[in-house]
Amino acid sequence: MKAFMPRIEIILSQIQHNTRMLCELYGQQGISLMGVSKAVLGEPLIASAMIRGGVKFMADSRLENIQRMKNAKIAAQFVLLRTTPSQAESTVEDVDISLNTEIETLEKLNYYASVQNKIHQVILMVEMGDLREGILPDDLFLFVQKVLSLPHLKIMGLGCNLACYGGIKPDNQKMWQLSELSEAIEQKFQIDLSIISGGNSANHQWYKSAKNVGRINNLRVGESILLGCETLTRQAIPQLHTSAFKLIAEVIESKIKPSLPFGEVCQDAFGNMPVFRDRGMHPRAIIALGKQDTLISGLSLDQDLEILGSSSDHLVLESKNPDLKVGMGVNFNLDYGSLLTAMTSPFVQKQFIH
Ligand SMILES: *Cc1c(COP(=O)(O)O)cnc(C)c1O
Repeated sequence: MKAFMPRIEIILSQIQHNTRMLCELYGQQGISLMGVSKAVLGEPLIASAMIRGGVKFMADSRLENIQRMKNAKIAAQFVLLRTTPSQAESTVEDVDISLNTEIETLEKLNYYASVQNKIHQVILMVEMGDLREGILPDDLFLFVQKVLSLPHLKIMGLGCNLACYGGIKPDNQKMWQLSELSEAIEQKFQIDLSIISGGNSANHQWYKSAKNVGRINNLRVGESILLGCETLTRQAIPQLHTSAFKLIAEVIESKIKPSLPFGEVCQDAFGNMPVFRDRGMHPRAIIALGKQDTLISGLSLDQDLEILGSSSDHLVLESKNPDLKVGMGVNFNLDYGSLLTAMTSPFVQKQFIH
């Protein structure tokens, strides 16, 4: 395939390496990983790299991404991170395990599982304080009892998700609480919970400091695998690659111009009143990349360049090095938000480096 711009270059061997290192690290205390593919839309080549790196489960929040991986014959257990009642029928058809918090949805899953003559596996998500998805701990026993009365569902375990919405840290106390809840449920209902999924890439610091991980035996990890960092402070994890993804876009104008707009000031294209700092005349470049391609605020540059602003299709840079020539490519590093949006944009070519 001819490489054009903008494009994301994706180094598959680095994703495989990151997965391998994380599987080994977490495996030391009996924790398995689900590779989370939502930021890359379930891209089959990336899912394959994760599987070569050692994950047995592929997890995604979108059913469409799971279907994409299945169509590409990816061999894994598929886990749906966000379950919607309107997709219950296809969920039972295409997904091995779904994460759930609502009895209405579980009843639908049970119904379609009976129609399809299957047992559908579920993980019940517990609210631990981050206030995104989760059953409140006080409601959990009654909830489990109701799910146990649905004969085509099997409760595989419990899970929780932290540091996503409320920015609440997964710490020892939260993980112990989940462990204790798991044991209490097992005793009360005389069932075995085989998966206790304690969180996501934000659980790294907890894991590093935990002497005993209790019943936690699984994490669902996306960003650490893809970008090589933990997500409480976005520090790089030792020995992982942090630039498996690189965005490359093209210079389409490069001139010395004033740094202050001239004329009467009004709203910009996005309804904001822009403010500018006077830097005198300076070298500026326009890159053919905009808000329609990626989240600009999550981009960073290695070179001596500064992002001044952007519109839907144009990114304006100050180039301290005036040698940026029209037609040149400029490299950007991406954070998770930029990666997610760039992978979703139809205008950004995805180029795999094998
Ligand atoms: C997105 C998501 C994850 C993965 O999060 P990362 O920060 O990418 O590791 C895990 N669990 C759930 C429920 C998610 O929605």
